[in-house]
Amino acid sequence: MNITFISAPAAGKGLISSMLNEKYGYPHVSIGDLLRGVDDNTVKKQLENGEFVDNRLIARLLKDRLSKSDCKDGFILDGFPRNISQISIYEDICEKANDKKNIIIVLEIPREVGEKRITGRRVCLNCGYVFNEYYDKPLIDGICDHCKHKLIQRSDDNIETYERRYDTYLKETKPVIDYFETKGKVYHVDSSESGKKTFSEIEKIIGGYND
Ligand code: AMP
Repeated sequence: MNITFISAPAAGKGLISSMLNEKYGYPHVSIGDLLRGVDDNTVKKQLENGEFVDNRLIARLLKDRLSKSDCKDGFILDGFPRNISQISIYEDICEKANDKKNIIIVLEIPREVGEKRITGRRVCLNCGYVFNEYYDKPLIDGICDHCKHKLIQRSDDNIETYERRYDTYLKETKPVIDYFETKGKVYHVDSSESGKKTFSEIEKIIGGYND
């Protein structure tokens, strides 16, 4: 199965993707992480400001990543497509990357919950696990429970960037969800509570599929 997460910023795509990866072994393909690995000043600036990066670069990164052997039995796509112009890339590259079923999960979070969540977020750049200083603290301060690497605070995790990204989500990404609704591929899951609760709701959805 290929699971695509589309959601507002701070809804928990990264955390849930890591949990799915840990339990089911599907590789976690995060566009944000792929872009953070690009050594280019324009891209770095766009990430810092929460602006969309060029589609051609994203298409190239996705094509390379999804052609790797670990994606042939399914993958988790996190953060794509985010605007109408990326739908055709999704349909050409992601849906055709293997012969597995494609579903889209929208994680729902009210704006004010996201605002609180964003300032506490700490991520592990090594294994992708996400913690929160307020809700999901690591056992040892600043250290990933899973791989013991150092946790960091992303430079785009500040209120100004969050507000901009949330507005962009409403304007650009909501229409993408509406498009996929018409194709009957979308599941909505409330992610305003704990990662554990969200994860168990998602397991109910994927349990309905035999891939
Ligand atoms: P994320 O890690 O998903 O929160 O994304 C971090 C940043 O990467 C975003 O604020 C954008 O600057 C960039 N980005 C992620 N996904 C996309 C996308 N589908 N299209 C364009 N830019 C993206």
